[in-house]
Amino acid sequence: MPGELDFNFRIDAGKKSYLLKVSRPEADPDYLVYQQALLQHIAELGQHIKSPAPLPDRQGKLVSEYTDDSGQNLPVRLLTWIEGRLWSSVHPIEDDLLFSLGEEAGRLTKALEGFDHPLARRSFEWDLAQAGWTRRATPLFSEDHQPIAAYFQDLFDQIQEPYSKLRKGLVHNDVNDNNVLVSEDLVHPKVTAIIDYGDAIHTQVINDVAIAIAYAIMDKTDLLHAALPVVKGYHKHFPLREEELELLYTLVAMRLVISVSKSAINRKAEPGNAYLLISEAPAWEVLKQWKQVSMDFAHYSFRSACGFAAHPREADFRHWVAKHPAKLSTLFPSLGKESVHPIDLSVSGVLVGDREEANDLELLQFKMERLQKEAPRKIIAGGYLEPRALYTSKAYDRMGNQGKESRTIHLGIDFWIPAGTPVHALFDGEVVFAVHDKGDKEYGGLIILKHREGDLDFYTLYGHQSLESVMKWKAGDRIAKGEWLTYVGNYPENGNWAPHLHFQLMLSLLDFQNDFPGVGYPNELEVMKGICPDPGLLFAQSGLEAYRIADPSDTLTFRQQHLGRSLSLSYSEPLKMVRGDGVYLIDHMGRRYLDTVNNVAHVGHEHPRVVRAGQRQMAVLNTNTRYLHDQINAFARELLDTFPGELSVVHLVNSGSEANELALRMAHACTGHQDVLAVEVGYHGNTGACVGVSSYKFDGKGGSGAPEHTHIVPLPDAFRGIHRGTGTGPLYAAHIQQQVDHIHSLGRKPAAFICESILSCGGQIELPDRYLELAYATVRKAGGICIADEVQVGCGRVGKTFWGFQLHGVIPDIVTIGKPIGNGHPLAAVVCTREVAECFATGMEYFNTFGGNPVSCAIGTEVLRVIKEEGLQEHALRVGDYLKEELTKMQGEFPLIGDVRGQGLFLGIELTGPDMSPQTQKAAYLANRMKQRGILMSTDGKDVNVMKIKPPLVFARKHADQVLENLRRVFREDYMQRHG
Ligand code: PMP
Repeated sequence: MPGELDFNFRIDAGKKSYLLKVSRPEADPDYLVYQQALLQHIAELGQHIKSPAPLPDRQGKLVSEYTDDSGQNLPVRLLTWIEGRLWSSVHPIEDDLLFSLGEEAGRLTKALEGFDHPLARRSFEWDLAQAGWTRRATPLFSEDHQPIAAYFQDLFDQIQEPYSKLRKGLVHNDVNDNNVLVSEDLVHPKVTAIIDYGDAIHTQVINDVAIAIAYAIMDKTDLLHAALPVVKGYHKHFPLREEELELLYTLVAMRLVISVSKSAINRKAEPGNAYLLISEAPAWEVLKQWKQVSMDFAHYSFRSACGFAAHPREADFRHWVAKHPAKLSTLFPSLGKESVHPIDLSVSGVLVGDREEANDLELLQFKMERLQKEAPRKIIAGGYLEPRALYTSKAYDRMGNQGKESRTIHLGIDFWIPAGTPVHALFDGEVVFAVHDKGDKEYGGLIILKHREGDLDFYTLYGHQSLESVMKWKAGDRIAKGEWLTYVGNYPENGNWAPHLHFQLMLSLLDFQNDFPGVGYPNELEVMKGICPDPGLLFAQSGLEAYRIADPSDTLTFRQQHLGRSLSLSYSEPLKMVRGDGVYLIDHMGRRYLDTVNNVAHVGHEHPRVVRAGQRQMAVLNTNTRYLHDQINAFARELLDTFPGELSVVHLVNSGSEANELALRMAHACTGHQDVLAVEVGYHGNTGACVGVSSYKFDGKGGSGAPEHTHIVPLPDAFRGIHRGTGTGPLYAAHIQQQVDHIHSLGRKPAAFICESILSCGGQIELPDRYLELAYATVRKAGGICIADEVQVGCGRVGKTFWGFQLHGVIPDIVTIGKPIGNGHPLAAVVCTREVAECFATGMEYFNTFGGNPVSCAIGTEVLRVIKEEGLQEHALRVGDYLKEELTKMQGEFPLIGDVRGQGLFLGIELTGPDMSPQTQKAAYLANRMKQRGILMSTDGKDVNVMKIKPPLVFARKHADQVLENLRRVFREDYMQRHG
């Protein structure tokens, strides 16, 4: 086994294993005794710590001797073996595991408290406190690397004084990725032990946290956010001190500087030893990236992770503000107002409207002016800590450890006041910078002032100001309280916003030179609110209040108490969605999830044209089909246009269930029979009659089998069904004849055969060739009616054709349509032949209070027009074919992908083992991991082992690539790679 100094062997003896450590002949015997004493101490005192325990030889000695073939005496130690996977082999490493690493390291430091030994105070190059020597290695570094090392070495020199005063203790000193053991649980792995105490030393305790972080963050996209759980976990068991956290940033880097220095030296001395070089390249990579992290921001983040106020002066600032309240009339003397009219521009707020409305500056300005008229004595303002979805520019995005992250949390207050309103200084101050922050949705004219009150520094920021007024100032200019500063800017010079002042407080400028973010990432909310205190604190009586983010668990609690328990929620940690936008659903924190689940939002979530059509008609009239209305006709015409001429009569309803319920009634009315043929695992709706023909329900949880008049035919699954491979259509269709014969044997006749055109709940199963053709012929011959359930697949989704049944060259007697046709609005339809319609019209009125109301019809019409005008059917074909092809290619890399199937943007990925066994748990894991990475996917099928892909049709090739990239990533994870 690998080792830097010792030769290590694993010895298996029956059920037990041991670690045999053979040291080099020159090894210091005292050092070996020290090592054994240390391990003994932990074995005896480290109650919750697993560590290798020393075992005595026959003479009771913990260090024995072995004479090798050449006559050399080698010191030998035997330790108990600890099972586990090495951290370096674990994939993925997520926050919970990082936290667990911190916990174990903290527990270990705690266990080592009180142990000491003279050799723990030796001179040692791996001791961070002694890292000054690394300067000697500098000439061995490449030219690119030298300044990186020097940057951290300089920082290290600067902290010597406070560093030397930090608390000391005996620490492990080498919590690296090859010394950490992880449990075998591949879904929720935990650190089980830290091994190899060879480097243990008496030094600053914080060094151990720095070392653990230095290795744990390798390969992470966002280093700082990977470090925080480690700090948090450590702090839980071994509370860290503020003065330690202040130096942690530099120490993390210095550990890596030692590592690369050692590597460079060893590379020269022993070019063949790969182990010595193992972490050199990744270490440089971390150093390079760590340098990009603001030291102050890291410091504040570490503080926040440990429960300290993020900024050390937060309390002092609050104290000062409480004694020095400001007035809004000082900021805006020309307005002469002291209070605000709060508005909600949050992601769930309705004032901004949909994407199109939000981007319509004139409209937003109009709304603000309207509000101003309603509240003439107040200033329209708000927004501190508001999660917003307004920022769609790419400049607000970055890649995080869990996928894409967007800045959404507003850190200042927006005052919506007219362009040209003068803004005055609230306090004496000095201009830090006055700039034109160019670009769409940037600040435009921006000034930051620095204020010094006693020994307290803070800053105020003024964004979206007129360029002319901002350019009058330059860095270093002084301004007195009450003095004129800027004028509120107009668009476009203000970064393209409706006129307002973005006003923000900061206790630190971090590393920003001529900008400071006004909007932060949700995962930095706690630390950013410490750095940017609530400006409302300044204007105590104004009515300004920070936005309170409602806790989704409150929503859940109410729901659990007062909504029916049969309603299910997706995901073990349910999502709270508050906004839709095209292919995205957006949660309460403004996080955008790429949606591959919701085929209901067919033309895109909240498609502006569809929204507008509904809004407009709703403002004018909403009644029912008992009056003539052109919208009803328009919708019916638009809908029938998509059908072959035989299907020419429409009945309008409100849900897919209602559509199928009506279709079944029609079938009964037209045939005079009750018996229905339906497909195994089929789902057709939630009404009594629909559940009665839905094997998915009555054969599933809580079901009690098929009702008397329902006859189920096998799932025509050519991949894992009872007939497999090509040419199975006739074989499966033969089961329909069997069931018809069975109905006949009961002295009855079939009323209908109901079947989806691609089986959705069944697991995205494409019907085999000729299946529908033969099935329809059989059913019709027996006098039955054929119903095509297009609730899931219809309206252009399958790409090649507008309706799924058209893929099979058949014409049903009745087609039921639901989900996509209303794009989220409850609208559904039954389209049938004239013959069926006629025999249903028995004289009994069919009245439906809501079905066919003008608002629904306006929406349905618009949906159909959008599909046509945006070419969404062709788009579904193009993007769907691309995605299917790429997924099929992935089968080569990941044998877990048993089958890829479907049409257009209605695809399925079936996960199976080598023996074709359904991999249900893997599908659940995959869906959950994809969600964590910001992509919604659902699972279904008889064995719930099929990933369904049925996104809004505006899903583009770039979204397909995003899905593919993330799928690949998750398929490579340990759990997905494990067999069985
Ligand atoms: N038919 C099929 C194929 C469906 O998937 C569904 C809904 N999942 C329905 C009918 C019922 O539609 P709704 O939920 O609108 O009543």
